[in-house]
Amino acid sequence: MKILISADMEGATGVTWPGDVLPGTPQWERCRSMFTSDVNAAVLGFYDGGADEVVINEAHWSMRNLLLEQLDERAELLTGRHKSLSMVEGVQHGDIDGIAFVGYHTGAGMEGVLAHTYLANSITGVWLNDVRASEGLLNAHVVAEYGVPVVLFTGDDLACEDALGYAPEALKVAVKDHVSRYAAVCRTPARTAADIRSAAKDAVRLAVRHTPVTGGPFTIALEFDAEHLALSATVVPGVERIGERKVAYTEATMYDGIRTFKAVTTIVSSAVEEQYG
Ligand SMILES: [Zn+2]
Repeated sequence: MKILISADMEGATGVTWPGDVLPGTPQWERCRSMFTSDVNAAVLGFYDGGADEVVINEAHWSMRNLLLEQLDERAELLTGRHKSLSMVEGVQHGDIDGIAFVGYHTGAGMEGVLAHTYLANSITGVWLNDVRASEGLLNAHVVAEYGVPVVLFTGDDLACEDALGYAPEALKVAVKDHVSRYAAVCRTPARTAADIRSAAKDAVRLAVRHTPVTGGPFTIALEFDAEHLALSATVVPGVERIGERKVAYTEATMYDGIRTFKAVTTIVSSAVEEQYG
C-alpha cells in the first residue's frame, strides 16, 4: 500500500501570518520545523497503520520547505517546482492507494487562516461548477479522476470544515482554531503530532483505490481584485471574460482543469503591479 502526502504550509501547526510561510524569512525558517513535524507525524501514522510506502509531495510556494533530514527514513520526498500536477503530483502513476492533504487551508475570499487559492492575493474567489472552491476541493476532483481517495486532512478548524464538503470520509485534524486571517489559537507541535499520527494510523483503512471518477465537464471561474487581471487571464486559450473582474473556462477533465488553472495564475501573477496592482 502506497500513500501520497500533499504538503502545504499555511495550514501547518503554529503558522498564522505571511512571514511564517514566505521562504527566506526568519519566521519561515522556524516554521519549517513545525511543518516538517506535522508531515512526519502523518508518515509515522501511515506506517503504524500498515502502509508499505509513503511519498511526500511538497505543495507550498517554492516547494522547498520541508526538512528532509528530519523525516522518518522510510519516507521519500519530492521537492522542487514544475510538476505536471503541481500540488498532487505523483497521483497519476496508478500506484497510489490514498492521499493526505496536510497543512491545507480555506480558499480565496473565505474565512480562514491565510485563506487563498494558489496566489497569495489578487484572486478573490474561485468556483468549480458554481461551488466555491478551495485548493483542497480542486485537487480532490483531480485525485478522484485517478480513483485515489483523500484519507487524511490537516489544517485549521475552518479548513477541516471546508474539507467535509469534498472529502467527507477523510479523517481530519485541526491543528489550530481560526481567529482571523492572521491569528489562530495554536496547539503545540508535540500535541498536533500525536493527533496527526493517530489519525493517519486510522486513515490507512480508507486507502482503497476506487473506480476513477469521470465527472466532467468542469467549469472553473476566477474573480480577481482588479479588472486588468481578468483581461490578462484571457490570453490563455479557452479562458473567457464573464464579468469586469471575472473569467471562466471549461475543460472535460480536471487534469486539464488544474493545468489551465496553473497557466491562468502564472499569467495573472505576472500582471500584478506592485504599486497600482
Ligand atoms: Zn496552499
